[in-house]
Amino acid sequence: MNNLNTDKQNLDAILTAVKQQGVDYLNHIHERSTVNSGEVEIIGDLSEQGTGTVEALKQFNQRFEPIMVASSGPRYWGFVTGGTTPAAIAGDWLSTIYDQNTQSAKGNGDISAIIELETIQLLLSLFNLPKDFFCGFVTGATLSNFTCLAVARQWIGKQLGKDFAREGVSGNVKVLSATPHSSAIKSLSMLGLGSGNVIQVEVLPGNREALDVVDLELKIQALNGEAFILISSAGTVNTVDFDDFEAINLLKQKYNFWWHIDAAFGGFAACSSKYSHLVKGWENADSITVDCHKWLNVPYESAVFFVKEKHQLLQVETFQNANAAYLGNAMDNFSYLNFLPENSRRLKALPAWFTLTSYGKQGYQEIVESNVETALQFADFINENPNFELLAPVRLNTVCFSLTDENLVPLFLTKLNSTGKVFMTPTLYNGKKGIRAAFVNWRTKSEDVDLVTAVMTEILTEL
Ligand SMILES: *Cc1c(COP(=O)(O)O)cnc(C)c1O
Repeated sequence: MNNLNTDKQNLDAILTAVKQQGVDYLNHIHERSTVNSGEVEIIGDLSEQGTGTVEALKQFNQRFEPIMVASSGPRYWGFVTGGTTPAAIAGDWLSTIYDQNTQSAKGNGDISAIIELETIQLLLSLFNLPKDFFCGFVTGATLSNFTCLAVARQWIGKQLGKDFAREGVSGNVKVLSATPHSSAIKSLSMLGLGSGNVIQVEVLPGNREALDVVDLELKIQALNGEAFILISSAGTVNTVDFDDFEAINLLKQKYNFWWHIDAAFGGFAACSSKYSHLVKGWENADSITVDCHKWLNVPYESAVFFVKEKHQLLQVETFQNANAAYLGNAMDNFSYLNFLPENSRRLKALPAWFTLTSYGKQGYQEIVESNVETALQFADFINENPNFELLAPVRLNTVCFSLTDENLVPLFLTKLNSTGKVFMTPTLYNGKKGIRAAFVNWRTKSEDVDLVTAVMTEILTEL
């Protein structure tokens, strides 16, 4: 009997073994190293017969498992790295088991898009956003920025009487931004808008990354009425700064532009009344990017785009998977493949649906507030230790700091990360070498900060 048939008969044992391994891993994730430089030899040839899953699992456990790092554990503070809630894991497993190709909400024999549409409603409710946004799931905030900016590109074309999706991009599309995320710039290059074409808006004085609205208006006036795209930030990666959305909204009433907000993780400020002022006015944007595999704590690959419903036709023009004759069809006979980059997609919404349904608004309020508290606790340590300095005030969930002697940063960070107790990433802020610690994992607790600060204090004595 071949391995596939044997596996079919052994399905229960296989999945039970995987479940037990998963439980063991997750129950000990706080003890697992956050770094591993273990090398593994790559096997270049595929065997004729294969091994069957039981043997494959053994091989995985011998070769790869021991060097997997606890990137979804409580002390992985590099980049902006979320974890996975129990409910999200359950939803993710079920996405795999049911293996739907999520497209249509009706008519084509598959209803999985209804789950996606409902999840979107839950997210809008979580963020207190109005219901006039159309949304969908993509693989990450990069693809969400891409999707939103693709519709923005089509909107610009319309202002010029052109259909860029059909005709190709022409002319020099103007994009204004102060501190855009690198993935927004990457999106501009993928969209043929040119990553080098961003008109730099000044940031506010006084150690800020938020755009200066006065300068923004000057830059707008210099365009002499030409339509443009504004990429604004709800949470920059270094210092989690937010543009002033109420002020931008006033400009939006005076000038003709597409307003995009990258709120990949900063949008979660909306979950707590303590921090929701940071996103006040964001509901007036044309499009918003939110990552789910960061602060929502669902597994990779998950993010959503929010595009105002009134732009739906532009969105279909951009992403339709059929020619224009079917345009009416795309609107009536709804299918996600006419609204976003991918055609076939897994049921990405299900992990988000499970975690939102399981923990509700209060669950996310608690995750956000608890993460900000641990960030502040860590910032207090930095402030109180004369060997360190904060590079910016802690506005939400990220601590951007340096050593008083900035030249020691690379050595210190190498030593720190090699302990395997914590992982942080380097940055350059205001021309200074720095280190970022970002808190978006639901598992992170005050004790984790205590553990890390003890390790840091120890390393100082070795420098
Ligand atoms: C992480 C991040 C992105 C890119 O997200 P991916 O999920 O890695 O594609 C974009 N914008 C901001 C502000 C981010 O923090």
